[in-house]
Amino acid sequence: MTLPSPPRSPLLLTPGPLTTTGRTRAALGRDWGSRDPAFVALTTELRERLVALIDGAALDDGDAFVCVPMQGSGTFGVEATIGTLVPPDGKLLVAVNGAYGRRMVQIAQTMGRAVVAQVDPEEQPTDVAALEATLRADPAITHVAAVHCETTTGLLNPIEAIAEVVQRAGRRLLIDAMSAFGALPLSARTLRFDAVMASSNKCLEGVPGMAFTLARRSALQACAGQAHSLALDLHAQHERFEKDGQWRFTPPTHVVAAFVEALRQHDVEGGVAGRGARYRDNGQTLVDGMRRLGFRTLLPDAVQAPIIFTFHEPDDPAWSFTAFYDALAARGFAIYPGKLTEVATFRVGCIGALQRADLQAFVEAVAEVLAAQGLTQAA
Ligand SMILES: *Cc1c(COP(=O)(O)O)cnc(C)c1O
Repeated sequence: MTLPSPPRSPLLLTPGPLTTTGRTRAALGRDWGSRDPAFVALTTELRERLVALIDGAALDDGDAFVCVPMQGSGTFGVEATIGTLVPPDGKLLVAVNGAYGRRMVQIAQTMGRAVVAQVDPEEQPTDVAALEATLRADPAITHVAAVHCETTTGLLNPIEAIAEVVQRAGRRLLIDAMSAFGALPLSARTLRFDAVMASSNKCLEGVPGMAFTLARRSALQACAGQAHSLALDLHAQHERFEKDGQWRFTPPTHVVAAFVEALRQHDVEGGVAGRGARYRDNGQTLVDGMRRLGFRTLLPDAVQAPIIFTFHEPDDPAWSFTAFYDALAARGFAIYPGKLTEVATFRVGCIGALQRADLQAFVEAVAEVLAAQGLTQAA
């Protein structure tokens, strides 16, 4: 039997999974036993590299951050973190200005933790003064959860100011940095937080399949037995890594191997600064090109993160997102639909193993598609 050869990978201009390098994909090409010392060493390297990205190995107060990987997509890590770190008698305040903030509210509700939301408009950063007022007015709130880059729109939240307010109020901060981690700086030496959550397949450019939480060791150690779930118990998961370096349940071995390879490349590129610089260049190339074609961004530049961009759909009777998507896919580019209920938009990411030339080629493809589909007014 002969199988058809797989089609060439498209360039993924999405918020994840993302385009990966050939070297990262090549790391998938061998099998590992989960107890094999070489695989245990890979897991240890993975955990240490991730802690180093937030300068978390040794803090001035004697504490340190630990990395707890979790099988699954990013949401599995968020659910494990909230369920383990927010105690059953605690109360969570979530800063919401998009789908991922709303998801954390839903996670807390599903597991029966007390939760309140501060909801800000989707094209505006979290109102930090209002957050501070809520914390002052409600002493029952023990934890605050915030999203670093709201992938719903591409908006950058003021995580430094949020961290300051939460610290001043004596509460604990959990950061969903899923779509920013590894490209936008976040240091445990300058910001106070208890946990940051991310995954293998966003700015770190691994393949999908695992999440991870970087947790303050003292905070995590106080959480024995309080998780809502057996599998998503971050404390129990961490205990196993500490005991013998192994995963508690079947590890995503190939994903781990590819992730370590991706992290080595991240380091060679210049770490967070190098990765962030390439993404800013990609983003600028994209947005300049799309504006030249008449497209308008949803967000003002001042609150736009160099991760994913939301564009208004053309106000043209000839416009169809599906036709536009299909025509770009035929040219080798995958884009993303919008996620807003009020305005008609679509999204284009600039993260993953993409270079300026890829974004230039994308803009050219968009111009071709506009012409082919008779779209005269992109704005
Ligand atoms: C991608 C993402 C997640 C996790 O989504 P999954 O589909 O579960 O990987 C969570 N928060 C943010 C901000 C994200 O961008």
